[in-house]
Order: sequence, then C-alpha cells, then structure tokens
Amino acid sequence: MAVTEFDIHSIIRNYPYLISERFAAMQIKHEHVYPDGTRSDFVFEDATLSVVVEVKKGPIDKKMILQLDGYVAKEREQNPVKSVGGILIGRSIVNAEVLKLANDRGYEVRFLDVNVPTRIRLCAKGTCRRATSFANERCPYCGSRKFVIDPFLL
Ligand SMILES: [Zn+2]
Repeated sequence: MAVTEFDIHSIIRNYPYLISERFAAMQIKHEHVYPDGTRSDFVFEDATLSVVVEVKKGPIDKKMILQLDGYVAKEREQNPVKSVGGILIGRSIVNAEVLKLANDRGYEVRFLDVNVPTRIRLCAKGTCRRATSFANERCPYCGSRKFVIDPFLL
C-alpha cells in the first residue's frame, strides 16, 4: 500500500510531536491559506515562534524550497516580532545544491521513513499511548513492547 500525502498529513495533524516535541504544545494550522490564495501545508505557532512545514511524498526539490520561502516571508510579515522557521519533509533530497539552499536558509530537512514515520502504531500503555514508527519494536517513550491493534491506523 503506497503512502499518500494525505496519510502523511494525517500523521502530522494527529501526532505533531513526531516532527518536533515542541509542536505538541503549539497551535496547529493545517493547509493554512494566505490572503493571496497560496496555501502552506502546516504552520505551528506559539507566542514567540512560527514554523512552516512543507510536506512532499517525493524528493525535496528547489521548487519546494521556493514555495517554503514564500510562506516563511508571509509569516514574517504577519508576525514581525516572532521567530519564523521552516521544515521540509520529503522522501530524499534532489542534490547537494538543493541541500545547500535549505541549509543557507536555516530550514530543517526531514526524511520520510528516516526521521518521519509513514506507518505508525500506538503504544498500548494507557499512560503513554504515544505514536511511534511501525518499525519500532519498543515504544521509544516508555519502553513498552505492546501496541494497540487498530485497523484504522496507517
Ligand atoms: Zn509508550
């Protein structure tokens, strides 16, 4: 079963701590539409920080970075006193030039099935219940080896 962008969006929406622990306490805007009609995949924000997250099921390319540039610029305009950051999530990165573009801008780069799981399961321990990669034999948060059986989970 191929992973779709919809699946990845669902995982990030429901378990944002899989991208960053800090996101668990931040407000999430999914498919945020700017006044000019463009739409970023996610914006996580709190009083001091806004982070734009762009997701692609294929490789991260220059076009994706330029899109993120646009959303980051709009976030800066709307939130002049906040720090604004960007995260690119994709299957791989096209080449060293693209990686340099991301690094020069201070964007974080995350790879699907490496830093961002595309298939997850939930810890069965009631006090934990955190999502983790399906590949993990133990829950990385509490060490439990038991997981919830849920046919609706990806
Ligand atoms: Zn656990």
